[in-house]
Amino acid sequence: MPAPADPTQTTVTAALSRLQAARGWLSDESLRELAADTELPLSRLEEVASFFPHFRRSKPPAVELAVCRDFACHHRGAGRLIAGLQAEFAGDARVHVEPVSCLGRCDRPVAACLNRTAGELVHDALYLSRTANQLIALVRAAVAGKPPPPPDSDAALLPARAAWAIDAVADRPAFSTTIPLADRLRRGNPEEAARISADLLARVTVSGLLGMGGGQEEAAKKWTDVAGRKTAVKYVVANGDESEPGTFKDRDLLLRHPRLVVEGVILAGAAVRATRGYIFIRHEYPEQIAAVRAAVAEAYQKGAAGDHFPVSVFVSPGGYICGEQSALIEAMEGNRAQPRNKPPTLATNGLFDQPTLVSNVETFAWVPGVVAHTDLAAGDKGNWYTGPQAAGQGRRLFSVCGDVARPGVYELPKNAPFRELMEVAGGVVGEFLAVAPSGPSGGFTPRQVTFRGTTTDLFDLPVEKDAFGKWGLLLGSGLMVYARGTDLTAAAVNATEFYRNESCGKCVPCRVGSQKLVEIGRGLVGGADRAATATVVEELDAVLRLTSICSLGPSASQPLLTRLKAFPGVP
Ligand code: SF4
Repeated sequence: MPAPADPTQTTVTAALSRLQAARGWLSDESLRELAADTELPLSRLEEVASFFPHFRRSKPPAVELAVCRDFACHHRGAGRLIAGLQAEFAGDARVHVEPVSCLGRCDRPVAACLNRTAGELVHDALYLSRTANQLIALVRAAVAGKPPPPPDSDAALLPARAAWAIDAVADRPAFSTTIPLADRLRRGNPEEAARISADLLARVTVSGLLGMGGGQEEAAKKWTDVAGRKTAVKYVVANGDESEPGTFKDRDLLLRHPRLVVEGVILAGAAVRATRGYIFIRHEYPEQIAAVRAAVAEAYQKGAAGDHFPVSVFVSPGGYICGEQSALIEAMEGNRAQPRNKPPTLATNGLFDQPTLVSNVETFAWVPGVVAHTDLAAGDKGNWYTGPQAAGQGRRLFSVCGDVARPGVYELPKNAPFRELMEVAGGVVGEFLAVAPSGPSGGFTPRQVTFRGTTTDLFDLPVEKDAFGKWGLLLGSGLMVYARGTDLTAAAVNATEFYRNESCGKCVPCRVGSQKLVEIGRGLVGGADRAATATVVEELDAVLRLTSICSLGPSASQPLLTRLKAFPGVP
């Protein structure tokens, strides 16, 4: 039986994307035409068009240079660079220099994106680690109508990247775990589908595989929950949004092993008995989108995906908040990406109100190895991922940037000490001052960590969520290192501005409080009393913890709070 049409292609977001692709931008007139054609209120279209950075509501200039202003790029002087470029092109109506949120190239700061209007179409290309003069020359050439030089490619970096254990899984014949399953599933026998589901769930359970998103919960828990829902329609969504500054491990993974991600999604679909799978990727990752689309096409060609389980790539319309799972689902449904109140959870009321499994793309990438190599008869002892014979003890990917010799993406076992992560990244350039161990969302951590009256050396802590949690620290997938000499107050204010810019605005305390935090931070730069400022930030932090629907609210206060509390002697 042919699969039903993809419901994400009939939403407001899909209609706006098609309109912008055809006309280059969304004028008032074109929105009115769309409202008339679709019989949707104009306000509904504007509600979505005004939310996402992908949508342009004003006519683009002939040339636009979008320059990242956040985190790693800020650390490398993006603020000065942007101000200089804006001064250079002031008064030239053909050129616009736009500061933008993190572009996911934190290993090669400062990141800039050149957008040119040719006819009605806008083409964009990334240029990384370029000097002001190089960027000015690029813009002048584009204004003169000259073709731009080849952009900086993510794929070009891969040959020089460190080896990962997961590479060996990718060396198997593509889709070798899913092709035999597809043959069995296509027969449409419910008992056979139940047997396949039980076998896959058992393998994921024994593996101890953790979700590689922020929560780091056991993957099997979520999978079993969704598998237990008795509905005709269910979805699997791989979250490749990855908009946290400092985090770019999915960027490399999607490019290096797109087949593993697609294969993992298909396996998850069979395990939870889903009817459709999606891979959600941020729109600033064009090479990754192309690579995953090619892998999906190969899955169809080999019969691993098809009417029994359709898979497609969903390109995010942009925004940090789409990384929050329920906000991502809202975006796919064609709404503003505003996180939902929970409960209900996505396991019961996910995409289009159907049970939905959402996990980070890396979680799915580990699944083919788990399924292919775990020996169920040997129980825990045959567990390929975390068992006694496993080389990795549960490995995961980390992106490291900032003041290290080799910024990049590294795969480590979770029992490896933090010291090892610094070593594989080439060591700290200069004297270690701080790390932001979860992008900016956990604030800054010094080398000597003191918690409840006890002190430990951060470099001895295993890179594992609970080991960090015991010391009151958050560990994410993206870490940024700061050497002594960094202006930590300026870094904290920049991180606070990021959260202010990316707040979805649904909760008033987050919307207003994040702006208040920015003002408090600027006061600190102006010489405000540190102790008094810390008290105010703590009060605001307590309010944000109580009143925020998602974790962005409390994250907004962490950079200033940790800067003030954990670095009292740092000027
Ligand atoms: Fe939106 Fe902030 Fe509320 Fe999260 S905490 S839902 S980002 S307003």
